[in-house]
Amino acid sequence: MGTAAVLNREQRQHNQEKESLNLFNSTQTVIKEALDNLGYPNESFELLKEPLRMLTVRIPVRMDNGSIKIFTGYRSQHNDAVGPTKGGVRFHPEVNEEEVKALSMWMSLKCGLVDLPYGGGKGGIICDPREMSFRELEGLSRGYVRAISQVVGPTKDIPAPDVFTNSQIMAWMMDEYSRIREFDSPGFITGKPVVLGGSHGRETATARGVTICIEEAAKKKGIELQDARVVVQGFGNAGSFLAKFIHDAGAKVVGISDAYGALYDPDGLDIEYLLDRRDSFGTVTKLFKSTITNKELLEKDCDILVPAAISNQITIDNASNIKASIVVEAANGPTTLEATKILSKRGILLVPDVLASSGGVTVSYFEWVQNNQGYYWSEEEVSTRLRNVIEDAFRKVYSAAQNHHVDMRLAAYIIGIRKMAEASRFRGWV
Ligand code: GLU
Repeated sequence: MGTAAVLNREQRQHNQEKESLNLFNSTQTVIKEALDNLGYPNESFELLKEPLRMLTVRIPVRMDNGSIKIFTGYRSQHNDAVGPTKGGVRFHPEVNEEEVKALSMWMSLKCGLVDLPYGGGKGGIICDPREMSFRELEGLSRGYVRAISQVVGPTKDIPAPDVFTNSQIMAWMMDEYSRIREFDSPGFITGKPVVLGGSHGRETATARGVTICIEEAAKKKGIELQDARVVVQGFGNAGSFLAKFIHDAGAKVVGISDAYGALYDPDGLDIEYLLDRRDSFGTVTKLFKSTITNKELLEKDCDILVPAAISNQITIDNASNIKASIVVEAANGPTTLEATKILSKRGILLVPDVLASSGGVTVSYFEWVQNNQGYYWSEEEVSTRLRNVIEDAFRKVYSAAQNHHVDMRLAAYIIGIRKMAEASRFRGWV
């Protein structure tokens, strides 16, 4: 690799770390506002402003060319006053400590919002799975479980899929954990294949949850979903299934994107074709010549905008140019706090990430319950229960926003943090 390329990579890493620090700081800001709103003392904030535990591990993996590569991984546990911690593991070159910490705090808020008996956790490994073989990925997944096995477990901390991890990776991790403990432990991890104790509906759960939020938000804004024009930024697990559900509901998906570019057609895109051609990392736009940038896509004409890719997409620079009247955050942290204020002033209804993306962890909870009871539910049962949970959470956040005269993000934090703050108080921690 040339010096320029190395510098470029280092610069990217540096920018990413700075961005993650911003995300982490803005999460703390809103947590503080939420606790103040609820009347909790500063000690509660001191406890909840950082994860309780953060483990950094080094994972040696023998690569296909015979060399040994050492990977760095993390597991952050935000708060376990309510119950075991819960949250996904991401495999990505730009994973860093601040990001994993912030993501574990968001998991706490999500679990609080949908009233699960969990606190938040999150893990990550710095790696690029797009450049690794199946065998190398298996070695890395198993190595990670060996490295964190002391701090995780079905009643301690339960991992799950996240960016660039899937049910196959969950299966390897579950197998490794079961070998270490010497008994079958399906409840150690969620998002497994159905034949290994996974739940029906888990793969599409995040997208289902987002879709339910879109339906609820559309009702509040008096928009008929049938006639709505929707832009979805990102075509990964959440974005692609979501585009399909919205399309099936009769809405017109006019824009989609991946890491390389975006497609926009005011007459509606051929979603079936795009789903068919996407690869397992959500890449599809490379097949097209006339693409636009992700930045351009966000400012295109539409009724509903769904950022379902990465963080910091709607910022002070473009918030005034957003045309949608509803923004539903399917990704984690796509809108900065300054931009949230601008959208709110402009009367745009924003459904915050901790609410919109809570469908995944909700069905993960259902999976864990099924594993613990050894009795499994049908797809319909999962889907009805999920709908009830998300509709209820949406209602609570919407009315908290009205009652406290705050934006939907702060309202979601108020609901999300309450149970954890209360549980920490009852335990006598603060
Ligand atoms: N990684 C997903 C999230 O961020 C799911 C977590 C889980 O299922 O535990 O919500």
